[in-house]
Amino acid sequence: MTRSSAAQQQAIEQIETYGSHNYHPLPVVIESGSGAWLTDVDGNRYLDFLSAYSAVNFGHSNPDLVAVAVEQLAKVSITSRAVYSATYGPFIEALAKLCGKDMVLPMNTGVEAVESSLKLARKWGYEVKGVPEDRANIIVMEGNFHGRTISVISFSSDDDATLSYGPFTPGFLKVPYGDLAAIEAAIDEYTVAILVEPIQGEAGVITPPPGFLPGVRAIADRHRVLMIADEIQSGLGRTGSTFYCEQVGVVPDLYLLGKALGGGVVPVSAVVGDRDVLGLLRPGQHGSTFGGNPLAAAVGLAVVRLLETGEMQTRSRELGAHLHSRLATLVGHGVTEVRGIGLWAGVDIDPALGTGRALSERLLDKGVIAKDTHGQTLRLAPPLVITREELDQAVDALEAVLAEALVDAGLAPIG
Ligand SMILES: *Cc1c(COP(=O)(O)O)cnc(C)c1O
Repeated sequence: MTRSSAAQQQAIEQIETYGSHNYHPLPVVIESGSGAWLTDVDGNRYLDFLSAYSAVNFGHSNPDLVAVAVEQLAKVSITSRAVYSATYGPFIEALAKLCGKDMVLPMNTGVEAVESSLKLARKWGYEVKGVPEDRANIIVMEGNFHGRTISVISFSSDDDATLSYGPFTPGFLKVPYGDLAAIEAAIDEYTVAILVEPIQGEAGVITPPPGFLPGVRAIADRHRVLMIADEIQSGLGRTGSTFYCEQVGVVPDLYLLGKALGGGVVPVSAVVGDRDVLGLLRPGQHGSTFGGNPLAAAVGLAVVRLLETGEMQTRSRELGAHLHSRLATLVGHGVTEVRGIGLWAGVDIDPALGTGRALSERLLDKGVIAKDTHGQTLRLAPPLVITREELDQAVDALEAVLAEALVDAGLAPIG
């Protein structure tokens, strides 16, 4: 590999000089992508096992999605919602039906969908449930990741995400993820919603204990509280079904969607729910200049159409089973635990081998892009269009990297 080429060094230096250092990227400069592959400025190819945090579930430069985007670009891209647009209606009807819900509130980024749902839950609490003004609270989970705005980090458990950003937004009660008794104990007459990731992605692909999500649903029903499922990363095929909630027989009041909803082409997010909540918004009470724009709607509709066939969900389920059967064999060989479902895995690296970051850099040298989270966890999430052969190629690389790291750590004989 010639990743230390002058071209890459120069690009990295420019970015580190002029760009805010709010990320710690892998040392590679990408020029193009296709399917499960990324290509750097020197022509080296990498299997993408990050998929831009699942924003690229349907592959880089997906030809069908790109064609829709290009066609729409030539017509009109941005109108604002001051007028109706021709692509907006078909998109939101298809998305509402995909979710089995009445209505859609379109936004752009994931955190905007989260923020919007918090506003909606409070509004529902005051105007429908009858909670006294300014008293509403929302129950959230420890270890959550819902985005980066001040209100959303106000209930983060991550010190890096919160350091020096106070004062924080009040009105959130944090309970341990997976602990139904703690939710039950935290609820009071002012509770308007429970916000939960069906699987905690950024925390390390943490799957909930069996019965947790159905339990949340039951508690929400019993106390007349909204259940908000943040499926921004777990949704849209990643876990082998359209929503992870489906697999445990749960229907939340509000779905939060983002990332893959934009098809890896544009940012598209949405809150999807029934009329009793989404119908509360009146003109002027919420909005977004770019939300639901004609380009986003055209691409979003194409994404919904893609999901309607079930092909991506099936790929994720079947290839995911293969991925997890292979990863399971690594436990005890440099890996301490593997979690996840579908084409989504959190792989805990034995600390004796070094950090997750160090492993991800070794993987990069072998042509695989994967990133660490929370120190020791490698997070794997290839595009759902990946082939079984490509999947095996990347797992082979991971096996090789682990074997090398074991030797380097003096934990395995050389050879
Ligand atoms: C990525 C993510 C978000 C935030 O999405 P952005 O588009 O980065 O604002 C929110 N919730 C979950 C579960 C996510 O994975």
